Amino acid sequence: MAYQSTNPYNGKVVKTFDEIDDTQLEAKLAAAQDCFEQVWRHKSFAERKAVLSRAAAIMRERTQEFAELITIEMGKLIAQSQGEVKLSAAILDYYAEHAEAFLAPEMLSTAKGEAVVESSPIGVLFGVEPWNYPYYQIVRFAAPNLMAGNVVMVKHASNVPQCALAFERLLEEAGAPVGAYTNLFISKDQVAQVIDDDRIRAVALTGSEAAGAIVAQRAGKNLKKSTLELGGSDAFIVLDDADLDKAVKHAVSGRMGNSGQACTASKRIIVVETLAERFLEKFQAAMLAFEPGDPLNGQTTLAPLSSAQALKTLQGQVDEAVANGARLVMGGKRIDGQAGAFMQPTILTDLKADNPAYMQEFFGPVALFFRVPDEDSAVALANDSPFGLGGSVFTQDVERGKRVARQIDTGMVFINSAAVSTPDLPFGGVKNSGYGRELSGAGIQEFVNKKLIRVN
Ligand code: NAP
Repeated sequence: MAYQSTNPYNGKVVKTFDEIDDTQLEAKLAAAQDCFEQVWRHKSFAERKAVLSRAAAIMRERTQEFAELITIEMGKLIAQSQGEVKLSAAILDYYAEHAEAFLAPEMLSTAKGEAVVESSPIGVLFGVEPWNYPYYQIVRFAAPNLMAGNVVMVKHASNVPQCALAFERLLEEAGAPVGAYTNLFISKDQVAQVIDDDRIRAVALTGSEAAGAIVAQRAGKNLKKSTLELGGSDAFIVLDDADLDKAVKHAVSGRMGNSGQACTASKRIIVVETLAERFLEKFQAAMLAFEPGDPLNGQTTLAPLSSAQALKTLQGQVDEAVANGARLVMGGKRIDGQAGAFMQPTILTDLKADNPAYMQEFFGPVALFFRVPDEDSAVALANDSPFGLGGSVFTQDVERGKRVARQIDTGMVFINSAAVSTPDLPFGGVKNSGYGRELSGAGIQEFVNKKLIRVN
């Protein structure tokens, strides 16, 4: 049974779902194509807006119900699950409100005649999405594209099937026609089949580098555009003039939010020598304060990882880092006496460039701590990574912060805060973190035809 909800807090299987067969898949592809051609592309912005706004309102009305599914399936602390539901509703509202303006025809000033660029939908899109933010990830893809007049099909991660179904039902309940948004419980072979299908016009994946390479290669073979939102190992740089307490507070939330399982988590903490000792002392004290417990209980501060396998992988990375010369400042083990997949908050230091951990993404509550002599070394270390997703710079001199930000080779840099995501900020990376952007005005332009109409 490939699609399965297993509560990471106690290891109990909650529900399982069958994959669909090829006949069912064909019916869903046909319905999506039919919806695009006959219905959805012809709707006005106002009609599409009515559906998305209703979906946002339902999410807000039933925040707790949507949030509990996240927590039960992937273990997120309930307050953070509620936050994710509200953010997802905000993204629906944002595109409902702004899509028409983002896609308004653009008159060009040409030497002769008249020229306009008009935006039109391209058809059925296919998304492959991860479990770490089960609604937010799919809404980033679905909301802009539905507003643009495309229809979307999504293969969600196999450990969050209830969230996948809840989102499909949400759009149905909000009035989306059959085929506008389709959840697919499909195998990896069927993912390839879907990408190959002529009715699919483009593909978006959020997930690991390995899955990204497989899916993008398949899309490329079919001459289809893709966007990839992949992993990261964001640098969190603390310069000598930083507000220390603020930096520590953000480093803790940036590393520990979602139990460390965020692509833009503050994974590499880089502190200039003059502040390093004091920073580490305060950072460690804050990391020691986390207490494991039931993520459905609002008092719990440390959630389990998403699965037993995720814990095993992370533990393996920590052990390998230590075997190659890294030093554990704290943590480094699974938490005993818990049925769930709990990892101790961990700080690793003394990581040299020849340690495999130096280049790896740690997807959990494990911070890699580096001391550097100065600003230039901090920038050099930040850029010495295969990833290029986000990063943070702490300094009380904002102009200095901007200057440093410009030297960091990533898609996003946050000055004096850990990474944040809001509907109006573009999200995406460079290097092995992928290509393309989601959210903001940029996110709605990825899968539309920018058609030139020229009058002579
Ligand atoms: P993953 O294994 O790549 O899974 C992501 C999605 O890809 C899932 O739906 C998965 O399905 C599917 N998938 C995996 N292998 C596939 C294949 N060979 N063919 C087709 N589909 C395949 O990712 P993960 O390890 O669970 O998620 C964490 C990673 O995602 C981290 O690296 C994280 O940084 C990254 N991430 C990036 C962003 C961003 O916006 N940049 C956001 C969140 C997460 P199954 O579940 O069925 O395997």
